[in-house]
Amino acid sequence: GGSGSASAIKQVKLERESELRIEVGNDAPLRFRLLDGTAEIFGTELPPQIWLNFPPRLKFAVFTWFGATIEMDGGTETDYTADETPMVSYVNVHAILDGRRSRAKASSPDDYDSSQGPRVIVVGPTDSGKSTLSRMLLSWAAKQGWKPTFVDLDIGQGSITIPGCIAATPIEMPIDPVEGIPLEMPLVYFYGHATPSNNIELYKVLVKELSGMIERQFTGNAESRASGMVINTMGWIEGVGYDLLLHAIRTFKANVVLVLGQEKLCSMLKDVLKSEPKVDVVKLQRSGGVVSRNAKVRQKARSYRIREYFYGLSNDLSPHSNIANFSDLFVYRVGGGPQAPRSALPIGAEPAADPTRVVPVNINRDLLHLVLAVSFAKEPDEIISSNVAGFVYVTDIDIQRKKITYLAPSSGELPSKYLIMGSLTWLET
Ligand code: ATP
Repeated sequence: GGSGSASAIKQVKLERESELRIEVGNDAPLRFRLLDGTAEIFGTELPPQIWLNFPPRLKFAVFTWFGATIEMDGGTETDYTADETPMVSYVNVHAILDGRRSRAKASSPDDYDSSQGPRVIVVGPTDSGKSTLSRMLLSWAAKQGWKPTFVDLDIGQGSITIPGCIAATPIEMPIDPVEGIPLEMPLVYFYGHATPSNNIELYKVLVKELSGMIERQFTGNAESRASGMVINTMGWIEGVGYDLLLHAIRTFKANVVLVLGQEKLCSMLKDVLKSEPKVDVVKLQRSGGVVSRNAKVRQKARSYRIREYFYGLSNDLSPHSNIANFSDLFVYRVGGGPQAPRSALPIGAEPAADPTRVVPVNINRDLLHLVLAVSFAKEPDEIISSNVAGFVYVTDIDIQRKKITYLAPSSGELPSKYLIMGSLTWLET
């Protein structure tokens, strides 16, 4: 596609170690190609001459180490060239990680510690470029033949699956600049809310489950273990957010902490982690190219992400509308639950709400427009410790006929009858 555009084709010449920062317009896509030289998008090299199509709203940079000429066709929201970037410091980190991977690979697999590659965690405030740095480190490693595991703990703006989840996936090839992370085999745990404050305990439990699962996979796979992991985190770094970062660092046994653009967070982490001598805390500069996103933009991005799950990035998927009887499906939620009212308790007693209690939910109109996860659990009490197969979107509830209509990626029976609800809603637009 991409033909028929009336806009002029424009050539941009990039000097060595500079980048072209682009925000694709809201309505029209953008095509461009590498005419000459070499260039990469967030760590993935561009093929020479081939036109690439970028969907509306995408924000990215084309960086060149040695100089390049690119050709653009289509409108952009903004595009400008920057010659000050932190890319040299980022690639230096990559080189150090690469050395550690080689050393891990050369060690005897029986020596569990030295055969373990780097476990990198990227932390920093919102819009500091954490996801982007994670992506570059993964793509550079994959280019070198490693298979690092990408772990995304960002339930708000994650890059592996829909919002409200934490997830992990092996990265075997440099990440496609347009398609993003391949969705073939992610390991996904459903938290169900876009912010951790809804149920902090549950968030921690799921982080623990995910890390346990990866740990087991590493035990049986020397290649993955030597390649290590790159963990992306949320931008919440104050108070409980800080506690959750520490919890993630310790749970995943991270040994390299990359702190983006925050002196204070860096020195706090250095201070608490100095008693854990095998952890390196490294401060890195934030790129001036990172685009800030306000609450509204973030909300929209979440909505697009859910749409992408069902319909594909460019409407290339066709989800199915399915109808089931109420009695065929079992919906659960985690935490909260009907608690004893304060008035029914002895004076001074707090109502005990077990944040990780799995509570059955009656199917009613409250489920309308919710995105539910399909659990791999075989019994309700396995729901928290089980990853999920995918998601459905509730489009209609017919109380009289006791029928529920939902959108699913495909037709046919769901992989399980256990569904998990949270507060994740979506309005199809
Ligand atoms: P959050 O914590 O909110 O998830 P983050 O710290 O992970 O944010 P990113 O998602 O990496 O930040 O970056 C924010 C946006 O800026 C993304 O759309 C990303 O593609 C864009 N971006 C990052 N670096 C550059 C750059 N050098 N040039 C242009 N755009 C960039």
